[in-house]
Amino acid sequence: MRNVNLSKLINYNIQEKDKWILYQLENINCWTDSTKKQTAYCYSKDGNLNIFISHDIIREGKQLLTETIKHEIYHAYYGHLNGMLHKNKAQRQLLNILYDCSIHQGPVNHSIFTKHNMNPCTYASCDLPILPPHVLYDKMKDNISQSFILNHLNDNLWEQSPISDVEQSVLQNSIEQALDKAEEEGHALPNGLEGGTSKGKGREGFEMDIVKHPKWLKELIHTIKNYGQDYKHKSWHREPRQEIGGGIMKRGLTNGKSKTRFLFAIDCSASMSTQDIRICVSAIHSASVREGLQGEALFFDTHVDKKVDIRDTESILKQVELYGGGTEFNCVLQYASPNDILVFWTDGGAWDLHQLNTDKFIHKPTFVLTTDWKQKWYSKLGKVITVPKEDLTDWR
Ligand SMILES: [Zn+2]
Repeated sequence: MRNVNLSKLINYNIQEKDKWILYQLENINCWTDSTKKQTAYCYSKDGNLNIFISHDIIREGKQLLTETIKHEIYHAYYGHLNGMLHKNKAQRQLLNILYDCSIHQGPVNHSIFTKHNMNPCTYASCDLPILPPHVLYDKMKDNISQSFILNHLNDNLWEQSPISDVEQSVLQNSIEQALDKAEEEGHALPNGLEGGTSKGKGREGFEMDIVKHPKWLKELIHTIKNYGQDYKHKSWHREPRQEIGGGIMKRGLTNGKSKTRFLFAIDCSASMSTQDIRICVSAIHSASVREGLQGEALFFDTHVDKKVDIRDTESILKQVELYGGGTEFNCVLQYASPNDILVFWTDGGAWDLHQLNTDKFIHKPTFVLTTDWKQKWYSKLGKVITVPKEDLTDWR
């Protein structure tokens, strides 16, 4: 399997209505090989979208390739990998058929696949009423007909690893941010997708069961991403983190200032459950992997006494359980150096709040507050993102 630059293959004379795809492809790892035939699928790795398209499809030309890329992006955006969670093989196969019908009903032009003899699933070809996939699934799941699957399944999504809600949220964020960027630069948005600006454009599309990501998480990921852009630039220089396998490296984001660390400081005195913090830790993990940020999670009450690699989610969560007591933030501010990107997760109750000074930092710290308490005060010191308690408890 080898890495392939799909934007290079489709960007020549691309139609205006399809230009949004080029913005998406900047965030997607694309793969191909010649052994598999008429195969395309998507999967997620640490919150990054990956797309495989077999070489015979690529060779058929730009029109088929473009429609195939769209097909996979819609699977990712509509949460189809997430929908496969906790399903058995037959259920995943059934869902795959229904998801394909849904995609081909609106946003993707299935007649292009037909033209290339690829037998796309449609509501008509499967003899199904035009209803959202989850509605059909509920009716069909208890009595799945093997012959129905044999006759209609011609997609490989069901074979990929299902992803968690958090990973789905991170993936959606990435897609929406690329849409925002396309929109900012004056390009039309596709049917059935919308930018993070939520102007209601397009989401009246066919499927409504998109995983909701909380606003605070979106803001946090956006913040991390923006920090990342400050000190990185695109380059052909090869970075070890961008290894794709088999020694192949991808054109990556190269660190401009390697001294920058990402520090995630967890206030362990706060009355937070591990579940609450798991959401944040996973989101930070995915975002920092994608942005190539190296960093540490810091555990502190009155002094920093534990540091864990930011990518080691399980150790971070284990540490969270061990703490209690009062909190002083100055120990973290002293530990951090001016180049560092600093994010505090806290309920806001620092003992030394009125003695804090964040002037030395190039990037002002971000405070993720789980209460509204002292919000105004913290905003003098850096950026504040508040997490409504309902989001922590209701969010699935
Ligand atoms: Zn599909």
